Amino acid sequence: MLYAHIFDTHAHYDDPRFEGLVDEVFRCQRASGVDYIINNASDEPSARASLALAEKYDFVYAAVGVHPQAAGEVTDGWLVRIESMAAHPKAVAIGEIGLDYYYDVPDRETQKQVFRAQLALANKLGKPVEIHDRDAHGDVFDILCEYHPAGCLHRYSGSPELAQEIVRKLGMSLGIGGALTYKNSKKEVETVRLIPMEYLILETDCPYLAPAGRRGRTCTSDMIPVVAEKIAEIKGDITPQEVLDITCQNAQRLFGIR
Ligand SMILES: [Zn+2]
Repeated sequence: MLYAHIFDTHAHYDDPRFEGLVDEVFRCQRASGVDYIINNASDEPSARASLALAEKYDFVYAAVGVHPQAAGEVTDGWLVRIESMAAHPKAVAIGEIGLDYYYDVPDRETQKQVFRAQLALANKLGKPVEIHDRDAHGDVFDILCEYHPAGCLHRYSGSPELAQEIVRKLGMSLGIGGALTYKNSKKEVETVRLIPMEYLILETDCPYLAPAGRRGRTCTSDMIPVVAEKIAEIKGDITPQEVLDITCQNAQRLFGIR
């Protein structure tokens, strides 16, 4: 089955696993119906790498920012440099930013400082954010309520009830990826069942999180239809191609891409 209008809202093609392969991988993506990719940064060098990919490939855009796990390594002037990178016409979001209590490094205060600084920056620039939240649902939600940014929670992994709160109180979207297709994905399935289509967008987090049936392989954006098929099955009244169409339009609107 050939699909169209695939929008991967969260990818890491600057990962060493794609080194020397990006030209070929992207050619395959375009031929497989991938229309847009947002490459997310994890630190300053990867923000620069994301912009370099966006400059080279017309269907690639960049999110620039510092991931919570890199929050301990920021150096003087980092926020000003992120701000100047965010001025690039293909920098469509601040990301990925957030809190990670799974690895819990660096300390939570440092993570929160760097997170807050970037939420304030996003609001100042009028840019959406891509949020990383791992085992930090309560604190992420409370801090988001302080700033009310536009944007999404990438690889949403909280409860279905919290998802409803995020949509209702914050109007933010949820990034749904390969994890939805895994065996123990009860929470994710219930979240997709409850949340209206207009708040869902699709992503890979590649090279990580290949969907069921492809696990162990390097994940790429053309695997997104596996997730669309699962969403169609959960919703029951929509085809996989319609899921791709709607989530693509949602993401275009959210990130201001025409
Ligand atoms: Zn990521």
